Amino acid sequence: MSTSDTDFDQQGMMSPPRPDGLRPCILCGTLCKDTYKLRCRPCYDSTQNVVSVNFAIYFNTIEHPQKYVVRRWQIETDANGPQAYGLVVCDTLAEARATLVPALMRIVRHPEDDPSLIETWT
Ligand SMILES: [Zn+2]
Repeated sequence: MSTSDTDFDQQGMMSPPRPDGLRPCILCGTLCKDTYKLRCRPCYDSTQNVVSVNFAIYFNTIEHPQKYVVRRWQIETDANGPQAYGLVVCDTLAEARATLVPALMRIVRHPEDDPSLIETWT
């Protein structure tokens, strides 16, 4: 599958719903019949304080020049502001997108966003 920019609607689904009705867990990628806030049951049980999960893709940050970086942001009930978790460093945007589970929604960047932010998936 090609992952050039033109493959996506402005806020379109990265992939169509699966015909078998299974959905990937947003955190671990496990396919499951019933998801809870887009998470599989074990992930949901261990992250009940998590209100929402986003994945942000950055390019050319100070720490990683000329690289694409994927970072997971979570809104948590017991935290002050979004919390960042994990870091995946890739050479291309396609590689960065391939680290995300399918069926996320793409959010395009806003002019006031961090200049290194390419897009966010939620
Ligand atoms: Zn999971």
